[in-house]
Amino acid sequence: MQRSRFWKRAIVLVDMNAFFAGIEQRDDPALRGRPVAITNGLTGTCIITCSYEARAAGVHTGMRLREALERCPDLIQRPSRPERYAAVSTAIMQALHDVCPDVEIFSVDEAFVDVTPCQKLHGPPERIARLLKDAATAASGVTCSVGLSGDKTTAKYAAKLHKPDGFTVIPPWEARAALRDVPVTELCGVNRGIGDFLAARGVITCGDMARLPIGELARRFGNPGRRVWLMCQGLDNEPVRTEVPPPKSIGHGKVMPPDTRDPQVIRIYLLHMSEKVGARLRRHAMVAQQFFVGLSTREGWLADTWRSAVPTDDGRVIYGFARQLLRDYWRGQGVFQVQIRALDPQPADGQLGLFDPGHASRPCNAVMDAVNGRYGEFALAPATLLRRSDMPNVIAPSWKPFGHRETILYGFVGGGVEGTRRARRHGGHGDI
Ligand SMILES: [Mg+2]
Repeated sequence: MQRSRFWKRAIVLVDMNAFFAGIEQRDDPALRGRPVAITNGLTGTCIITCSYEARAAGVHTGMRLREALERCPDLIQRPSRPERYAAVSTAIMQALHDVCPDVEIFSVDEAFVDVTPCQKLHGPPERIARLLKDAATAASGVTCSVGLSGDKTTAKYAAKLHKPDGFTVIPPWEARAALRDVPVTELCGVNRGIGDFLAARGVITCGDMARLPIGELARRFGNPGRRVWLMCQGLDNEPVRTEVPPPKSIGHGKVMPPDTRDPQVIRIYLLHMSEKVGARLRRHAMVAQQFFVGLSTREGWLADTWRSAVPTDDGRVIYGFARQLLRDYWRGQGVFQVQIRALDPQPADGQLGLFDPGHASRPCNAVMDAVNGRYGEFALAPATLLRRSDMPNVIAPSWKPFGHRETILYGFVGGGVEGTRRARRHGGHGDI
């Protein structure tokens, strides 16, 4: 039932269905209608995501391939192609933007669109939501589920209700009633910590929230707590954010063969990540002076932060810190993952510091960047990297097609159980 034509606020969430697997099925007709699982390279043992046909057979994200094959013997394994997924994601976001310019890229396969101002141009919100759904599908060849409501939280909840190919409208005046019996922890952004706090006060469903004074949540969790109180009642006033914030760090990590103890192999991974961080800083004309280097071991992370004499974008300088970590902290433990991050990167001012240790390598880096820009990443690289692992790039759930996050991160998803857990912690981005 529609009481008013013009909504005071109208928010759409577009969520692509089984995004990576959907792209594989679109690109290869032989895969359509078949159970497909995406892994990290052909040697990957952990399922990053899978098609709906595979889901119907009980296969899910994070499952070991061997177990998945037991449940679904005709499962077809395909290696992840992050560059392809990134290109399709960019096309989708552009298509949404062409319908309505206020787009917040929420993850690689999800976007919020504030369609309130477009009502004058395109008519009722339901019509605009249909336009967005059709645009996303046309741009990608993959179906999507769309949720429309008067706020972000309810729109996201609505999109989740019908998958795949869903279209769910919860008018703002019905949002509160629609959420009443929904467990608070089902809402995007309500983590276990807040969920436990609420449960201890008898708040299990969104409807229970009305009995709890807003001040109690605000005192314990500040503004995020206040937002949760509003969210549960269909009153989430969080705006659709169209700007991508500048990065607090630029980093690369990579999952290694489990329990790697060969120092030469660890050094190659560290050099590889150092060079990637350096190249990415240079691509965005940024420099940094603080660098985090970490190795994950069975006992936890061996990690430290170093400061360079002057801000730098040189992979060799960064690798120097990685060597230092090995020298000072590593005692032969098995390593599972390496991570290197440039902290608080700043725009480079283009001046060459006289004492900049990266000074001498600047012309060399410029040539390397130019060659790699034309012939592909690491076409030209330090000779040691010829022996680097051929594990493919992996797309992170927080990947966004504009600005600094354009680069695909290494090893964060699907590289193992930790990768999957991390993806889950990011807040419901599991369905890629
Ligand atoms: Mg999705």
